[in-house]
Amino acid sequence: MKIVIAGGGVIGLSCAYYLQKEGHEVILIDNTAMTDGASYGNAGHIVPSHFVPLASPGIIAQGMRWMLNSSSPFYIKPRLDMDLLRWGFAFWRHSNEKTMQQNIPHLHRLLTLSRELFEEMKNELGNNFFMKEKGILIVYKTKESEKHEQALAKLAEQMGMRSDILSEQQVQELESATTINVRGGVLYKDDAHLHPGLFTTTLSHYLVTKGVKIISNTAISGFEKSGNKISAVVTAHEKITADEFILANGAWLPELSKKLGIKILMQAGKGYSITYENYQPQLQYPAILVDHRVVTTPIGNDLRLAGTMEINTPGSPVMPKRVKAIVESVRKYYPDLDLPFTDATKAWSGLRPLSPDGLPYIGRHSTYVNLIIAGGHAMLGLSLATGTGKLVQQMIDQHQLSMAVDAFNCERFK
Ligand SMILES: Cc1cc2nc3c(=O)[nH]c(=O)nc-3n(C[C@H](O)[C@H](O)[C@H](O)COP(=O)(O)OP(=O)(O)OC[C@H]3O[C@@H](n4cnc5c(N)ncnc54)[C@H](O)[C@@H]3O)c2cc1C
Repeated sequence: MKIVIAGGGVIGLSCAYYLQKEGHEVILIDNTAMTDGASYGNAGHIVPSHFVPLASPGIIAQGMRWMLNSSSPFYIKPRLDMDLLRWGFAFWRHSNEKTMQQNIPHLHRLLTLSRELFEEMKNELGNNFFMKEKGILIVYKTKESEKHEQALAKLAEQMGMRSDILSEQQVQELESATTINVRGGVLYKDDAHLHPGLFTTTLSHYLVTKGVKIISNTAISGFEKSGNKISAVVTAHEKITADEFILANGAWLPELSKKLGIKILMQAGKGYSITYENYQPQLQYPAILVDHRVVTTPIGNDLRLAGTMEINTPGSPVMPKRVKAIVESVRKYYPDLDLPFTDATKAWSGLRPLSPDGLPYIGRHSTYVNLIIAGGHAMLGLSLATGTGKLVQQMIDQHQLSMAVDAFNCERFK
């Protein structure tokens, strides 16, 4: 089959990877050079341990408290926008214990599938993107976080994940490079990390050698349809016909799907990363500093800090106070690290595609017989990419699916 994929982030690339393996003719189109999207500059954590979806009890109250602080890790740009209101209402409705418990098994299965598939992909591509499988540390400073994280670690063990609950001293022994100022932590041993930019560029180069046509710096501006079938995508230069179409264009999915008359409930959650090149002393472990919602990743010779969730429109300006707050938070955990902060505009920013219940959208849309949606992976796009790509390929080839996908139905908020 001839298949067009809209979007060259980690989700579109993973779909292309599994589809070319089955012998399909794949054309992937991205409106950028594919070196700066959410998939490129993120924290690089592959986290099967993150089985609790974003919409969970307590998140709304926490978010409200954070909204009052201009350097907190969370912000919603107030605006009169029906899509934001609908999204906010749906998010509120899903942030409860019952829905969270219903959604955990689905997210867990997709995370586990993706983690297994990553192994295969790493071996096939050659690991020149610094993938390391030594685990990721969750560290906390408060008693409440300790209680919460230890309960999660026990649940993770019951679900088959390997984790160690660590005292302050045990965390320090693991992080031997520098002082770490925490109450304790959990090491999730099945988690991994990599350089996301090198990963996506390696994957796209590999795909080109396998015959995938990648058209970059070209926006899809519309579609040609006949009845319940899409016949072509339209760009400024040409019309490209195909048998199947996959929308995997991240936080811009609602904008593009509107051109097909389809409403996808999604908001963009902007985050930042700051990378210190050739950093010494290099951290031994990537870490999630839970009380400040900031993460650190040693990527090759570099050190990356990332964080902040700003619900804002694509194209909104950088908020310097929030970028600075990321660096200041990290200093509280690693007091001896030299982390100069001069210019917020040098920070990288990316948009997390947020669905209202914390589960992605993966599947066919009933309006067209040849359309698949693959998006809304929020804070977990890298961690969920391989599983998503594999499922999309299985849908197109009408093969048995590796897991049930009803929970990811892209029409669940109709
Ligand atoms: C600060 C930060 C840290 C993060 N850390 C992690 C992490 O550690 N682990 C993890 O699993 N996830 C992480 N994430 C989340 C992850 O980055 C995203 O979930 C993931 O990158 C989404 O991938 P995507 O392919 O759906 O979207 P994108 O990577 O945004 O790709 C979509 C592409 O489609 C293109 N596009 C848009 N419109 C069009 C159009 N009309 N025509 C053609 N192309 C178009 C865009 O330009 C873009 O290149 C992080 C995100 C942020 C912001």
